[in-house]
Amino acid sequence: MKDNNQQFATKAIHGGVEPDPATGAIMTPIYQTSTYVQEEVGMHKGYEYSRTLNPTRHALEKNLAAIENGKFGACFGSGLAAIDCLIKMLNPGDEVISTNDLYGGSYRLFNTIFAKYGIVFHFVPMEDPAEIEKYVNDKTKLIWVETPTNPMMNIVDISAVAAIAKKANAILCVDNTFATPYLQTPLDLGADVVMHSATKYLGGHSDVVMGALVTSNEEIANEIYRIQNSSGAVTGPMDSFLVLRGIKTLHLRVQRHCENGEKVAHFLKAHPKVDKVYWPGFEDHKNHEVAKKQMRGFGGMISFTLKGNVMQDALEIVKKVKIFALAESLGGVESLIGHPATMTHASIPKEEREKTGVIDSLIRLSVGVEDAQDLIADLEQALA
Ligand SMILES: *Cc1c(COP(=O)(O)O)cnc(C)c1O
Repeated sequence: MKDNNQQFATKAIHGGVEPDPATGAIMTPIYQTSTYVQEEVGMHKGYEYSRTLNPTRHALEKNLAAIENGKFGACFGSGLAAIDCLIKMLNPGDEVISTNDLYGGSYRLFNTIFAKYGIVFHFVPMEDPAEIEKYVNDKTKLIWVETPTNPMMNIVDISAVAAIAKKANAILCVDNTFATPYLQTPLDLGADVVMHSATKYLGGHSDVVMGALVTSNEEIANEIYRIQNSSGAVTGPMDSFLVLRGIKTLHLRVQRHCENGEKVAHFLKAHPKVDKVYWPGFEDHKNHEVAKKQMRGFGGMISFTLKGNVMQDALEIVKKVKIFALAESLGGVESLIGHPATMTHASIPKEEREKTGVIDSLIRLSVGVEDAQDLIADLEQALA
């Protein structure tokens, strides 16, 4: 079933999966087992112990490699566990150049866990890739890109950063959580590794926490598998099954997220109480041209601010919505609303968060796949 010439939907549904050899079951079974019987010492069917490899996880890892146009996939207990694995490839003294406007948990992992092991992190605004070059030196081993960013929806030019990484002989890893491989395939643009929080769009139903890495570089893959097995932050067979099932409809869901996102973004832009709307599909978004070049759609993540920038107004709106649910996370079928200043970015000092645009009235939406007119009516009554 491995055919790199297949189109996205075919790979999403068939990549990595085949009927169960024991029973013919068309869906990959949940192999809820820790170990595998060996005929004699060293004689087994490719599975010895489920930390190392489990058939349900293996099918998902192959499926993820297929949809990201890569060769090797690896799954972890969360998105952060996937990042943790990648950073463990580095040695004390090595330097990482990272997007400055990035997922808060990634920032915390870099700064409070790995910095004390002597890995040096530089947080750099990457919308102008020339900024990155100022930090490149012979210790630079990894460039970490998140695009679009959370919650400001900034776009980083992956091909331009890939050229810098190549010249510096550094690995380029892209956190592709927001875009999904349906909208953006970083390996095709020159990245070495793609990272996912599968918790979000890949799982797509807000019922799993999981992470993944995908690469086509065998040397990097071998290191990833060595660390995955040695550190042991693997995902279980039930969760692997759920994400495999989620991915079968990824293209359908993301199409609708994009359609609904566009309608909601335009509604907000025309609303008299709304100040700025951050969505990469707008022609006046500062990196719209780059988004158009490297993405096949603009997604359902939108942030907006209110005229007057009063925190209380934003808190009223997130309380008054009825279909949008007030919650952290994103990428599920249901629409979510959040207030970054008091939720995801509360631990960042006010002056610091305001520098990147996370002001008091900023509201973030994960637009789901409900009917757009109901979502718009909900926002309309909450804004009234
Ligand atoms: C959620 C998220 C993560 C972390 O993933 P977990 O599955 O929550 O550990 C990393 N990057 C981005 C962009 C995210 O949205």
